[in-house]
Amino acid sequence: MIIFLDYDGTLVPLREFPYLAKIDPKRKEFLRKLAKKHKVAIVTGRDKRSFSQVFGEVPPELYLITSHGARIYKGEKLVADFLKGKTPDLGPLKEKLRELPGTFLEEKEGCFALHYRSFEGDESKVKEVFCSFIKENPPLRVIEGKKVLEALYGDFDKRKGVERFLKFLNWDRKEEVIYIGDDTTDLDAVRRVRELGGRAYFVGRELPEAEGFFGDVDEVYRFLETLQEAVDQY
Ligand SMILES: [Mg+2]
Repeated sequence: MIIFLDYDGTLVPLREFPYLAKIDPKRKEFLRKLAKKHKVAIVTGRDKRSFSQVFGEVPPELYLITSHGARIYKGEKLVADFLKGKTPDLGPLKEKLRELPGTFLEEKEGCFALHYRSFEGDESKVKEVFCSFIKENPPLRVIEGKKVLEALYGDFDKRKGVERFLKFLNWDRKEEVIYIGDDTTDLDAVRRVRELGGRAYFVGRELPEAEGFFGDVDEVYRFLETLQEAVDQY
């Protein structure tokens, strides 16, 4: 079985700032064990540095797909790199964001994310600043998530991340594929996985694109435990 797992909001609850979303060590160990039985890939919008901040060292059993599919790692080792685009100088944007306390700019490889979960003012002001910046520095793609706006300057998204990873594994189209995510950024991947005959689940809300949904992160782990146990019986 191939299991794709989003990180923020799926394997850890969403936090006010991305760097606070640390993995529980017991759950990390559980994922490592799960990855001994199935091919487990964490698919995140974070880049490797930001992911390591909250996850620590990636065990060699686990795959990691960073920056919405730009790079594939096996453990700590980079095994495939699709990152080509470069982010523009974010200086002018940072300058403007100083006037909007509570906003947080996450600089990543080939993209940037503007978080405003802790911003208490008029949200349209944040969007205005973001839009005027991307007008001057047009990205290839913009993604709006939960209180976050992302500008992607390279050719990658989670759908491509899924496709590239399956290709990387030489997937035989028979092995079952599962995807679990929680955000609009996961939707393309969810659709693709279902097109390919796999199962996809959403966390926190029911969506027509997904097969089913989990109420929260704890439920995700309970489901993953059943996948672990199913194999244990043989
Ligand atoms: Mg997420």
